[in-house]
Amino acid sequence: MTVAASVNPLLSLDYVPALESIGDDYYDVVAAAEFPQHLLRFRNDDLLRQIGLDPAQVSDDHFVEAFGQFQERSPLLALRYHGYQFGAYNAFLGDGRGFLYGQVRGGDGQLYDFGTKGSGTTPYSRGGDGRLTLKGGVREVLAAEALHALGVKTSRTLSLIETGESLWRGDEPSPARSSVMVRFSRSHIRFGTFERLDYLERPDLIQRLLDHVIETYYPESRLFTDPVERYSHFYAELVERVAQLVAQWMSVGFCHAVLNTDNMSITGESFDYGPYAFIDAYDPSFTAAYFDYGGRYSYRNQPAACEWNLRLLQKPLKRIMDAAALEAGLATYIDHYERYYRQRLLAKLGFESLPNDLGQDLVKQTIELLSQVQVSYHAFFLELARQFSVDWAEGAEQIFGTTFQASDAGAQGRLDQWRQLYQRALQTQSSSALAAMSARLRRTNPETVLLRPEIEAVWEAIVAENDWQPFHQLVQRVQAPFLA
Ligand code: AMP
Ligand code: MG
Repeated sequence: MTVAASVNPLLSLDYVPALESIGDDYYDVVAAAEFPQHLLRFRNDDLLRQIGLDPAQVSDDHFVEAFGQFQERSPLLALRYHGYQFGAYNAFLGDGRGFLYGQVRGGDGQLYDFGTKGSGTTPYSRGGDGRLTLKGGVREVLAAEALHALGVKTSRTLSLIETGESLWRGDEPSPARSSVMVRFSRSHIRFGTFERLDYLERPDLIQRLLDHVIETYYPESRLFTDPVERYSHFYAELVERVAQLVAQWMSVGFCHAVLNTDNMSITGESFDYGPYAFIDAYDPSFTAAYFDYGGRYSYRNQPAACEWNLRLLQKPLKRIMDAAALEAGLATYIDHYERYYRQRLLAKLGFESLPNDLGQDLVKQTIELLSQVQVSYHAFFLELARQFSVDWAEGAEQIFGTTFQASDAGAQGRLDQWRQLYQRALQTQSSSALAAMSARLRRTNPETVLLRPEIEAVWEAIVAENDWQPFHQLVQRVQAPFLA
């Protein structure tokens, strides 16, 4: 492979100063840390193609120059924001270990951010070291790639570079290895970006930022010339996007773990993967963050937590728009959520659609069954995909054969009841719809799930032998997680 040494394609991309163009009230210009070492541990060639680059023309050294040494790019912008963290307002947030490196247009015409994590201290570091542990970087790469493959609207990771420092952390064996990551996302403007402007009592800055958000990320709202209609449309669409995102998380069994308003993107995209986890057994009260003592952001609380965050966002928005329009927008949240969630669960059960009541009933009974019989959420659906036969429409007793032995008589009764309902659902399908089910089951139910033991196993290989092979294999598996 020959790569021209002179020009670094990552540095000569067509960077767009989109956020800068709305004035300097939203960020601080900062400098990147200088690291003793730069070892490229992950590069996302898929994303290079998405921004119009040929991976063969981008060397590992190019990544290091751009995303480890941060050569030649300025200004680097630490974004200002506040946020509600576990219910308490925090006016001392902001990018404490990252900055907006640049913004580019993708091949799809959309604007994307390159945002760093672990790139050094900023005015918002609050005594922190501004760094990211290598394990934290590895975990975020894996989460984003896995979620993306499962059809969740998410940020991704462009690169992860190990940086050769020793970090001290209370929640990781220390000294811990250090890294710097570049995140690729629709935007790093958060609900908390607006909350800060409300706190500062700056409706002018709220309006300017909202106009920018709509102009850049809400093409349909943009069409309304009347500002009242435009802002109402924006909020209603954000409500729908968030409802859809949460339905995506819930259906794939994902628990984000830290749904503070500074982790809520104004584009409705998922990002910032810290102590997240995928559930294994179906346990609605599962809580991923060890410091979330009350289970505030447990798996089952995610829909309500995000609805609450949308409600909190009304406070800054009320400074420039009508409260009634905001209420009307939020009132649609539950319906959107339930519709998207049902659609995704039915797809996991193989159906494109079912008569309304039957669809609702089947989803409800599936969830109840999963809560009662102690099988893995993912194994249940994967087995369904593996074993499915159109003949099941003829005999409920064939459904799932004998794979799932219920633990007790009560659970057995529920399983039998579920089999009958599933059969009834099959009987509503035309023969062509039945024929399409197997393929749908296979493309909605992953064989590879990013459970914690999988992550720990690849991390152990890195710790013990500096062996990155298992990590790269797991990345590949989560990127293509479905049955062949
Ligand atoms: P997070 O938990 O990553 O969403 O971060 C919450 C807040 O803490 C943000 O303002 C971060 O920038 C900041 N923060 C987290 N870790 C560090 C660190 N090691 N050094 C400085 N700031 C940090
Ligand atoms: Mg965050």
